[in-house]
This record gives sequence, structure tokens and C-alpha cells, in this order.
Amino acid sequence: MQHPLYQKATYLKSVPTLALCPTDLEFEVAFAGRSNAGKSSALNVITSQKSLARTSKTPGRTQLINFFTLDEQRALVDLPGYGYAKVKLEKKLEWQQGLTEYVERRESLRGLILLMDSRMPPTEIDELLLQWTADLQLPVHVLLTKCDKLKKGPAKANLLKVRKWLNETYPHASVQLFSSLKRTGLDEAWNKLDEWMAFSREKPTQQEDASMSEK
Ligand code: GDP
Repeated sequence: MQHPLYQKATYLKSVPTLALCPTDLEFEVAFAGRSNAGKSSALNVITSQKSLARTSKTPGRTQLINFFTLDEQRALVDLPGYGYAKVKLEKKLEWQQGLTEYVERRESLRGLILLMDSRMPPTEIDELLLQWTADLQLPVHVLLTKCDKLKKGPAKANLLKVRKWLNETYPHASVQLFSSLKRTGLDEAWNKLDEWMAFSREKPTQQEDASMSEK
């Protein structure tokens, strides 16, 4: 079920560096992925807004850190999509310094949603990001996007393959199938976000729910 605050996501600002990030947020989840992986579509469907993420695709903002606040403490953060280019390990990412600093030092960053096309193998940059976040002990949740383009069997097989690979290589990362088009995996994605946004403890427990309905 969607926590009502996701629908309240409101564009706050776009910044190039950590120093310019808003100061009073406590819970942030950042979205990253190769360009065209389906990041904007996922952000829109997660927030039930038709064109929220279009804001971060407007000229001048595609290379910036884009903040969408849910309330005074919480925000979803749209990071620049990265390209297909091969990168050298020591270069970390082809992202600029500001972004590297944001991921490495942003205290309110609770987790990273990594979008990967379910029909394609992870790119070198996806892997680099997984390695880097492992070193930082930053939790990652992978959305295998556009899973509507695969039949159920192959989609499930791919999920299991990626899950096994992550468990063995990058155990700080979890994974699920996702389709913005068909809304597949939306509850699972919201659950993960709720956990990172510290929403879960604010929700009524099953017992509280039951006692409320008895009243
Ligand atoms: P971004 O560059 O990562 O923000 O990707 P977009 O969200 O803009 O999506 C890139 C392309 O993939 C667009 O043509 C979308 O319509 C398409 N797309 C995104 N999500 C889905 C999905 O769940 N299913 C299908 N079939 N297409 C999708």
C-alpha cells in the first residue's frame, strides 16, 4: 500500500554539489541508473504523479541532484542518469565530483534505488556503483525495470539469477522485478522505501488495526 506522503512529493531544488544540498532533511532515498533504464517512469508511478520526474529532465538539470520533498524531513532524490561508456575503476563514475561527494558523505541518505533494465545485463557502471556502495555500506535496492517486456518465466528466471549474483557478490543489495507500465512490484518498492523513510514504525500495527476496527 502506498504511504500517502509519496503523492505529496514536491520539487524543491536542483543542486550541483553536496554543500548546496538542503540542510534539514533526515531521510533521503536516491534513484540512480543508466539513462533510459526507466528511472523517471518509476519515480512518477511511485509518487502517483504524471510528470514529477520531468522536472529533473529539463535542460540544465540533467546533471544535477534533484530534490523532491515528501515532508520537512524526507525527500526522494533523482540523480543524473549515466551513459553506456566504459569507465576505469579509479575514475569511480563518470559523474562529476559533486555527485560522488553526495553519495559518499550525505548523512541523510538512507538507501539507493538502482534501476536496471530487466532485459539487459548489468553495465559496468551499475557494477561500479554496487562495489562503491558496498564499500560505503550504503544499502541498495535494485529495480529490474520494464519487466512487462518479458514473459513471466524468463522474468522470474532473470530475477533469480540477479538475486543469486547479488547475494554472492553484493549482499548489501536486494532486488525485485518492476514495471511502471503495469505497476508490477509497486508494493514491494513502496515497502523498501517505507523502511528507509522510517514510515513503517508510524503505521498502525496489525494489532492496532484490528483493535481500531473493533471500535
Ligand atoms: P530514464 O531515462 O531512466 O528516466 O527512463 P524513462 O523513464 O524516461 O523511460 C525510458 C523509456 O522506457 C521511455 O520510452 C519509457 O516509456 C520506457 N519505459 C519506462 N518504464 C517502462 C515500463 O515499465 N515498461 C515499458 N514497456 N516501458 C517503459
